[in-house]
Amino acid sequence: MKKIAIATLGCKVNKYDSAVIHKLLEGAEFSFVPFGRKADIYIVNTCTVTKRADYQSRQLIRRLHRLNPDALIIVTGCYAQRAPKEIKEIQGVDYTVGIGEKERILDLINGSPRKEAPLEITNDIPAFPEHTRAFLKVQDGCDSYCSYCIVPYARGRSRSLRKEDAIRSISKLAELGYREIVLTGIHLGSYGWDLMPPTRLSNLLRSIEHEGISCRIRLSSIEPTEFDDDLIDLISSSRTICNHLHIPLQSGADEVLKRMNRPYTSKFFKELVKKLVLAMPDLNIGVDVIVGFPGESHENFTNTVSVIEELPIGYLHVFPYSRRPGTPAADFPDQVDNKTIKKRGETLRGMGSSKREEFYRGFLKKRLSILVESKKDADTKYLKGFSRNYIPVLIDVGEDMVNKEIPIIVTGVHDGKVFGTLV
Ligand code: SF4
Repeated sequence: MKKIAIATLGCKVNKYDSAVIHKLLEGAEFSFVPFGRKADIYIVNTCTVTKRADYQSRQLIRRLHRLNPDALIIVTGCYAQRAPKEIKEIQGVDYTVGIGEKERILDLINGSPRKEAPLEITNDIPAFPEHTRAFLKVQDGCDSYCSYCIVPYARGRSRSLRKEDAIRSISKLAELGYREIVLTGIHLGSYGWDLMPPTRLSNLLRSIEHEGISCRIRLSSIEPTEFDDDLIDLISSSRTICNHLHIPLQSGADEVLKRMNRPYTSKFFKELVKKLVLAMPDLNIGVDVIVGFPGESHENFTNTVSVIEELPIGYLHVFPYSRRPGTPAADFPDQVDNKTIKKRGETLRGMGSSKREEFYRGFLKKRLSILVESKKDADTKYLKGFSRNYIPVLIDVGEDMVNKEIPIIVTGVHDGKVFGTLV
């Protein structure tokens, strides 16, 4: 039996896509081995969001080729979609497969390549290794063309999974025993705009709520301009949707936002966050920021720092600007030097750690409901569970609690770790 290994880089959408590939190949005559072990076939699901992601994808392919020079290597994902020629030039690569044509992978392995298929969102129910949290991709692609972002070129226009199919998949995942489903998308807030008739994310969430499924729903990133009152009301009154949101800010300087082609101001963002926290006091908001966008002056950066200082958020994801050829920003003047980008990144990461710690401390002695996962903390050997508002809590309970949602009280926050005890 041929051994096969799948490697995944990048975001939650890629994780979902890899699970779909796994599912597609399950029925065939293969045995799956963990990535990093010697296999006959390697499938590499790449990311291209930054130059570093490209580099990591190339390094990984080379490593796999060294591990088994005779292995068949098939490369898919965003990098393969954006630059198939570049990928094919890497030693050891046999095929590249675009996003949305995953069925070709089986044909290629079987030695009967078929012609390229159009982009589509698959409706398979993949399997996820942890069996606690599943990902469901309900949207792919993006029409926004932020000036720094390669994603619309790599993943194409926005397409959504039909509402009925999404509900069916969610019910199926809940039946299979998953206790949390993360709805993912490249631009989740644009869910449904492409469907006939068009619909909205809030309509999908309302239907999920009415379904009365037995697991909780977590939302991946939503753009700031896509929160309307309907969506906020729905999330804040929901028993199913987690009180955890991830919202990209990218910069706190309005002139930078404008050049990024981001359609809001820092004032709009601050008001949105305040409105959300007012509606959901325990809400955990995570924010993305890019440092070193071309032309980002010291003053621009200081604006970002003061906006973040002011925001009642739980954590920060900081990305150094990465020049992606083919995007408008790659040709903008005044590219910021690496040293400055690094320094600004460190400043914001420091702020992010303090925000996170402060947010966690706000829950000391409070009750939370955590979903226990099977992974143990390396130092304490305690099991870890995530609260609905995405606080990772370590708890000394037996493995019979894995995959159960249990009530706990937060007893301590030490060195960035949160401890709890069963109520
Ligand atoms: S919204 Fe902007 S940053 Fe996000 S995927 Fe689309 S183009 Fe990229």
